[in-house]
Amino acid sequence: MAKAPLKTYYTTEEELDGFHQGLKQFLCPHCRKRGCLILHGYLYGYEEHGDWSRRGHRVFCSNRNRQTGCGRTFPLLKSRLVKHFMISARVLSAMLALFSRGLWPSKIHGRLRDRISRTSIYRIYHRFRRNQPRIRTLLTRIKDPPDTCGVTDPLVQTIIHLKSAFSGSFVSRFQQFFQVSIL
Ligand SMILES: [Zn+2]
Repeated sequence: MAKAPLKTYYTTEEELDGFHQGLKQFLCPHCRKRGCLILHGYLYGYEEHGDWSRRGHRVFCSNRNRQTGCGRTFPLLKSRLVKHFMISARVLSAMLALFSRGLWPSKIHGRLRDRISRTSIYRIYHRFRRNQPRIRTLLTRIKDPPDTCGVTDPLVQTIIHLKSAFSGSFVSRFQQFFQVSIL
């Protein structure tokens, strides 16, 4: 009996294969039945630069062919993407790093080479700000916040905490580790 929670994000194809093979052991998050989950098609959407591409898979609790699932679906996404946004986790990490250096949305637009609209930068900024309590609660489970003496903005404190827990593309690593969207 698998006790690990169902995945929402994956990083490598090997990980996806492993998840696919063990899928029948998981409980459906909606109806709590075991043995009815299958991979059922792909999720597509726009990515950076406006490319239409595969963003992940759809998991289906099957109610077909005598299966007794609830018929609902839920997404399994690549951790290098950001749910509901075209921006990649890599660019979001770079954007948050700029926020933590005191550059606010109005100044960031010209510094990110990738094509992100000013509106998107503001949307992301406000969404991240709103999500901070949730992000901090998760981070505190694995690492105490570092000493941010002199930093008064909670948003900057959260980003420093995030960077201290995960290196590199920290947004992708956060999503992969906690299996939740950062935004
Ligand atoms: Zn179900």
